[in-house]
Amino acid sequence: MHYIKKENAIYAMDKYNVPVCKVNSGETITFEAYDCFTNQLTDVSSFTALDWDKINPATGPVYVTDAEPGDILAVHIKELAIGDTVTMVTGPNMGVLGDELTDTTFKRLPIEDDYIQFTEAIKVPLNKMIGVIGTAPAGEAISCGTPDAHGGNMDCKEITEGTTLYLPVNVDGALLAMGDCHAAMGDGEVSVCGGEVPCEITVTIEVIKGKKWPTPFYIKDGEINTLSSQKTLDAASIEATKHMVDFVVRYSDLTKGEAAHLLSLVGNLRICQVVDPNKTVRMALPLSYLPKW
Ligand code: CA
Ligand code: CA
Repeated sequence: MHYIKKENAIYAMDKYNVPVCKVNSGETITFEAYDCFTNQLTDVSSFTALDWDKINPATGPVYVTDAEPGDILAVHIKELAIGDTVTMVTGPNMGVLGDELTDTTFKRLPIEDDYIQFTEAIKVPLNKMIGVIGTAPAGEAISCGTPDAHGGNMDCKEITEGTTLYLPVNVDGALLAMGDCHAAMGDGEVSVCGGEVPCEITVTIEVIKGKKWPTPFYIKDGEINTLSSQKTLDAASIEATKHMVDFVVRYSDLTKGEAAHLLSLVGNLRICQVVDPNKTVRMALPLSYLPKW
């Protein structure tokens, strides 16, 4: 098994990043990850503003032998072993309330017995997830703060233990990296952060040939979800839906019009996050509607 230490951190997904190690399809890897502030934000006095190019370190990248452009890299998420303290920050120009807040609200919160102690009276159950996970894009480098077709800062709360995430392979070796784990997060991530926490992420990877797909998707609890990150929620909603229609047409006997009807009946379009440089949504459909998958 491979263990990659957190000091192997990158701040952009880039085809020119030097791989930390080479792994084969089927191997298991543990990525030790800083929290999204590179574990530096333990004192409110040190905080000024979020610089999207300086936060969200991702550990890696890993070069996957035999992964070639046009393949899919399946990432089976086995375990998220999180730290014991959550960090949160919001304030002016951050998150949905960024135009109203005049002061920074900074939180360091203990995790006890599978709960985040938010206030003395409020306990929030853990809902662990990976915020940043992706492969290198074929073109320009993309900051780890930005989600796009390669993955990146998608902040989807369903990217968690038991989920299989499928990422496009855009360059030889895929160059997989991940980090920015949250102890809990709701759909939207409205304050600009989740319950930011250091983590050891254990995954098993698998190279899939012959199923080329342009954007990330995942399978969790018997449902397939397309993910889209675009400038606006409208654009992301349209792309996630159209990609799910493509899945239905490819992996069932339905026409495109019938696929649209099916999604109108049983497809669920949900918001992942609204606070990153691109917004992310997901469209969910039970796998049972894709008999040829
Ligand atoms: Ca994030
Ligand atoms: Ca985060």
